[in-house]
Amino acid sequence: MNTQFKITKTDRPKQKPDPDTLEFGTVFTDHMFLMDYNKSSGWHDGRIVPYGPISLDPAAAVLHYSQTMFEGLKAYRAKDGSIQLFRPDMNAKRTTLTNARLCIPPIDEDLFVNAIKAIVDFDREWTPNKENTSLYVRPFIFANEAFLGVRPAEQFIFVIILSPVGSYYKSGLAPTKIFVEDEYVRAVAGGTGFAKIGGNYAMSLKSQEKAHAHGFSQVLWLDGVERKYVEEIGTSNAFFVIGGEIFTAPLTGSILPGITRDSVITLLREWGFPVREERFSIQDIYDAHEKGQLDEVFATGTATVISPVGLMRWSGREIIVNNGNIGHLSQKLYDEISGIQTGLIEDRHGWIQKV
Ligand SMILES: *Cc1c(COP(=O)(O)O)cnc(C)c1O
Repeated sequence: MNTQFKITKTDRPKQKPDPDTLEFGTVFTDHMFLMDYNKSSGWHDGRIVPYGPISLDPAAAVLHYSQTMFEGLKAYRAKDGSIQLFRPDMNAKRTTLTNARLCIPPIDEDLFVNAIKAIVDFDREWTPNKENTSLYVRPFIFANEAFLGVRPAEQFIFVIILSPVGSYYKSGLAPTKIFVEDEYVRAVAGGTGFAKIGGNYAMSLKSQEKAHAHGFSQVLWLDGVERKYVEEIGTSNAFFVIGGEIFTAPLTGSILPGITRDSVITLLREWGFPVREERFSIQDIYDAHEKGQLDEVFATGTATVISPVGLMRWSGREIIVNNGNIGHLSQKLYDEISGIQTGLIEDRHGWIQKV
């Protein structure tokens, strides 16, 4: 498979990290994937090269106007030693949507997936095989044309870097404390909330810092117009189990279409649970809690798969969810999805692609 890309091998391979001390995104593998875009050649010169700095003109458009996007997925080491990706075709599809919104030229979706497979395969020894570890895959694109005018750039670079990562939770799932943000907003319909872009993250840091200062691990975002409807939890999608039904915000433009979100909805429906993709307010959540009907709250995303919420604070009012314990559905979904990802549970959906 590598043969379609030129390869330059590093002459200084690095020491691989101890799998017991892996964190998130601090260690990178020996190689990276690069591909260039310009108007005359389109996307061209896909290649694997030694991991290292990329030189950039100070006038590069990305540094001034943020024309850049990213993706995130993981390669998992299965019990039999093989390496598997979870739904990389969905990352390719989402890249197409994000690129369209940011005037970044589209990348052929098969080429996108093949590039991921090629670099993961080339650095395959870096995929850790300890339980709860994985190889995080970070594809991203940015405008590297040196030009200060405001218009879509005509030159881009597509990069894929890889990072062996440890479990988000050192000792199994752990419920988090969530701060409901009613001052700053993340996204509005018509904006860029559905696109995976650095800009959405830059403007979220202030709220994250505020939440951390108050001893909370994440924020819950309310809608950007009325600051009333529940949208997402930090950089994850949000689910609420209320009286036997599961609620999550609909994909109306301000919500990131999470691949974990889609997988969770698919599984819940197969298991016979009613899932309602509907707008609902933070007041509805507090009312349900008051009536003893708020059974579980959890966030979904590639980094954690499922992150149960144990406590929420909204304008000074704190509620404890499920006595601060991991909910039944949170655990079941976590076990099922991470089981499929690591090959312990049969993949009945065609979600796994071997490398
Ligand atoms: C990446 C991301 C998610 C989760 O998406 P997954 O595909 O499940 O990893 C949710 N919300 C935001 C804002 C994100 O950036």
